[in-house]
Amino acid sequence: MRRGSVDLCNSLSVRQILHIDMDAFFASVEQRDDPSLRGKPVLVGGASRRGVVAAASYEARAYGVFSAMPMAEALRRCPQAIVVSPEHGRYGEVSATVFEIFHRYTPLVEPLSIDEAFLDVTGSQGLFGDGEAIAQKIRADVRQEVGLAASAGVAPCKFAAKVASDMAKPDGLFVVGEDVRAFLAPLPIERMWGVGPKTAPLLRRHGFATLGDLAAASPELLERVMGSHGPRAAALARGEDVREVEPGREARSIGAECTHEEDLTDAGAIARALLVHAAKVAERLTEAGLYARGVTVKLKYADFTLLTRQTLLPEPASDTKTLHDACVASLVRFPLAGARVRLTGVSAYGLVEHTANQQRLFPDRAAARRRELERTMSSMKGRFGGGAVTFATLLEAPDDRRGPDDVEDDGAQRNSRITRGAVTWRR
Ligand SMILES: [Mg+2]
Repeated sequence: MRRGSVDLCNSLSVRQILHIDMDAFFASVEQRDDPSLRGKPVLVGGASRRGVVAAASYEARAYGVFSAMPMAEALRRCPQAIVVSPEHGRYGEVSATVFEIFHRYTPLVEPLSIDEAFLDVTGSQGLFGDGEAIAQKIRADVRQEVGLAASAGVAPCKFAAKVASDMAKPDGLFVVGEDVRAFLAPLPIERMWGVGPKTAPLLRRHGFATLGDLAAASPELLERVMGSHGPRAAALARGEDVREVEPGREARSIGAECTHEEDLTDAGAIARALLVHAAKVAERLTEAGLYARGVTVKLKYADFTLLTRQTLLPEPASDTKTLHDACVASLVRFPLAGARVRLTGVSAYGLVEHTANQQRLFPDRAAARRRELERTMSSMKGRFGGGAVTFATLLEAPDDRRGPDDVEDDGAQRNSRITRGAVTWRR
């Protein structure tokens, strides 16, 4: 990078933040993989009438259906919709590829969910062009390699980038210039983070119709109307948003690994080793009160080649089974035929402290039970020492007819996807 180049310095002084969000992600994956669903209204979600819509294809949205809507209401609005139950393993695999693409352009990637991230590409401009050019490259890579549409917003700050990507949908790109406040001013207040169906009418009654109105309001009035969120919202509306993109969430990871005395040569043995690691990682997460957004599996081969594969979880988790299922699902992405593996490892990344205020699209009572079980196991280990309680599978002689699915009796959660590909021990 040349020093003293005024133009370069100017162009670098404005941050280039990307917000990239897959369009109707789960529904688009279903339409991609089943041509008979293309062009039709598709709802992904629980088939039961008490379920909610996890994703709606654009064809369904035309009928006023949106994510998180009760399935019964969605089907009332769009009775001809085709309901598909979610297959998280497949979404996780697609997501991992999408995030691999993000990481080609910058290490500063902050995952927000399985299909959405902030990227700071300010420092990547010398290599790849400005934010707009990088966003287009990423959209093209995703389109070509994954066969799906991603929309992107480019702006000097996170809030505007997020608003821009919403405006870009579907399959679009929206670039916000340096004057973020001017861009935001005419937009309706519903665009403000945290302003939902309850707050919006309240704000409108007080004369706030646009983000420009919010930006100009007195902090006192806003605090009265919106509570403690008010002044913060006004600052965001003025384009005052210095929040950094935080890849640190990934650096803050919890992991376990070991080098084996004898190289592992079959998928069953590798998966059992991953179960030991996953159990340890789950225990540490539980102790720390953290949930992982994703897991990384690491294999070092006899020739010291080191490969890692990341899998994003459908939602943050901290129990052994969820972590281990994701690990086993990712094994199909490693070359395993004839492989000799000397080291195995599992780490959890994207650690978050709670899931309480996140929308629970897939209430998972089984996961809650597993978490409870692990809390109990964790406290028993504290009392009786590390070896007191462990998963039955770990105590058994290697036997490829049993898999880590058997770690507990949880028939409802038996997961057919892990029988795919290289790991074939269940059947
Ligand atoms: Mg999305």
